[in-house]
Amino acid sequence: QNPVPRASCEAVVAKVQAGATRHEPEPYTDLAQYAKAGGYSLLSRCINGEVAVEDVIKTMEGSGLRGLGGAGFPAGRKWRIVRNEPGPRLMAVNIDEGEPGTFKDRIYLERDPHRFLEGMLIAAWAVGIDRIYIYLRDEYHGCRALLEAELEKLKANPPVTLPAIELRRGAGAYICGEESAMIESIEGKRGMPRLRPPYVAQVGLFGRPTLEHNFETLYWVREILEKGGEWFASQGRNGRKGLRSFSVSGRVKDPGMKLAPAGITIQQLIDEYCGGMQDGHAFYAYLPGGASGGILPASMNDIPLDFDTLQPYGCFIGSAAVMVLSDQDTATAAARNLMHFFHHESCGQCTPCRVGTAKAEQLIATPQWDQQLLGELSQVMRDASICGLGQAAPNPVDCVIKYFPHELR
Ligand code: SF4
Repeated sequence: QNPVPRASCEAVVAKVQAGATRHEPEPYTDLAQYAKAGGYSLLSRCINGEVAVEDVIKTMEGSGLRGLGGAGFPAGRKWRIVRNEPGPRLMAVNIDEGEPGTFKDRIYLERDPHRFLEGMLIAAWAVGIDRIYIYLRDEYHGCRALLEAELEKLKANPPVTLPAIELRRGAGAYICGEESAMIESIEGKRGMPRLRPPYVAQVGLFGRPTLEHNFETLYWVREILEKGGEWFASQGRNGRKGLRSFSVSGRVKDPGMKLAPAGITIQQLIDEYCGGMQDGHAFYAYLPGGASGGILPASMNDIPLDFDTLQPYGCFIGSAAVMVLSDQDTATAAARNLMHFFHHESCGQCTPCRVGTAKAEQLIATPQWDQQLLGELSQVMRDASICGLGQAAPNPVDCVIKYFPHELR
């Protein structure tokens, strides 16, 4: 009943078979180790006036770093926009990581939490932030314990004067990963997206200008500032800029988080980073961007995976959660599973999404799809839903009709 393959659990299963009774967290770089290796010296230089804010923002702009939670808004430009708003300014860090198939933030957080925290504090310094709220997925119990412990150490022994930092529990809903719903949730309300404008950068948390960032975007700040914006920008392939942390799951031999050049194609990702397809499985289709990024056939295996490159095909990369399907799967079954998910996760605030996801789920449950009606429904959901959930929910269904008509015959 789960047509979308999950990330392989083989490593964990092997440990359990070898006698382990629980999955032990891997060792990570704690504050002492991070500081010993030069950590927080860049932040100290910023705060002590050895580095100019304008230079930092220019380097960020030159790097081409974009919001890696999925929206892809240029990070440096966002810093400049929020900095130009009147204070007090706030910051909200999104570690809700609820997109199906995405696990990159958790892996980085479990390995090197202070690299993220230093990036966050540099961003806060550059933008002039008074208070930071970190919104952590509630299901990430291990990460919470780790982050609490490391934040406590940092506050007890601060390398510089720190802004106030609050760690908040996620509310367990997919929609709370949407930036304005997350902000509502941090404010203590039910997580429902806001109508925009006004944008969060102008009127965000508690009505104040807010710098909102995904975890991974901040994770790269230190390395970009140390190595230069050109270093990051030069990492891409096929004319694209930067690096992407792909969360790869499905029918490949070696799934997991793969740091690869932006613009790599799915075929290169499978062959060069994932050890090829599993034995007995032939590459059939792929989801380039989690639940909402659409489904493409294996024949379209040469599209550079990055922001903007998939739009002409009705897809997007989002947070780079790539799911690989084989000849033992069907795109139709994946689309049914995904529409069920969207129906369940719709916050219910607007009719096109609340009713549209329910109706679409019913319509695709039958073997014969009413393609005209589904097309009209998709159009209404795209045009009239308040947020990205309702606007993107029809993507998998539209892709099946467009790219997998043989499954509907
Ligand atoms: Fe809520 Fe869906 Fe409307 Fe977004 S599109 S506000 S999730 S009902």
